[in-house]
Amino acid sequence: MRLDALAGNAPVKARLEAQSRGRGLSHAYLITGPAGSGKRTLAGLLAAAMVCSAPDGRPCGGCPACRKAAGGIHPDVVTVAGEDGKDLTVAQVRRMRADAYIRPNEAERKVYILPDAQRMNASAQNAMLKLLEEGPPYAAFLLLAEAAGELLPTVRSRCEVLALAPVDRREGEAWLRERFPDAPAQALSAAALRCGGILGRAVDELSGGGEEEAELSALAARLADTVEAGDELGRLELAMPLEKWDRERLARLLDALRAEALRRLERPGQSESARRRWMAAAEGLEPLREACGFNGAPGHLTGWLCAVLSQ
Ligand SMILES: [Zn+2]
Repeated sequence: MRLDALAGNAPVKARLEAQSRGRGLSHAYLITGPAGSGKRTLAGLLAAAMVCSAPDGRPCGGCPACRKAAGGIHPDVVTVAGEDGKDLTVAQVRRMRADAYIRPNEAERKVYILPDAQRMNASAQNAMLKLLEEGPPYAAFLLLAEAAGELLPTVRSRCEVLALAPVDRREGEAWLRERFPDAPAQALSAAALRCGGILGRAVDELSGGGEEEAELSALAARLADTVEAGDELGRLELAMPLEKWDRERLARLLDALRAEALRRLERPGQSESARRRWMAAAEGLEPLREACGFNGAPGHLTGWLCAVLSQ
């Protein structure tokens, strides 16, 4: 398979490669990872691979099917999302089911991409489950969600989970250099560090849409400063407004904060106690970040954050 457009994630790529050489790609994948981790990129590659007409090395990227898939106009690659920013409804899932029973137009398979699969209520998910269980053999479903736990266990168990991981800093930087050959080396390395391995954020930043990332990084640095200064009051003042944030933005702040903690941990010439403090902060932020991907309430998560930083 040709999956180079997705950075890092060698284990996921190796697994897909083995499948395509062996029994063939599966009929249902659940692709998980935070926003910007490459879920849509991988879904696009898988969909193209499933409709590509090349004998091997799919998706070839050059055949008419690949070009149509990349341009979003392949009749057998269908994206199903909630309308006007709303959740996916059971009626939409039923329509997708009816559509799935109409044979593919051009390709051997028909692929459905659900970019916000976690945005289905229980009855929509149950309709989805039936489709995963009983759908026609040529139909394939690519469900995207931040975390597998956001879907019912029954739905999860019918999918093969492809969990995307943050990309190693050096590998990420090399990947960014290829995509932004004109960007200054310093900007590339700063973006690679700030994004914490979630390259979509670095891409946003380097394409000029990174103001919010820069803001989050600045706030992370200020929070880290309060830790260094032992300034509990200052930290509370910074943390209080976070209770009103949505989980997605909070998750990005936590990633920026973890990157900041690791950066301070690696600073040369620091005392052993400072090193231990940043190590504890970076470790303490991990379960918190995970909870943020599920259903943790921002108020509770903010309290937890203050506790982690007060250690
Ligand atoms: Zn092709």
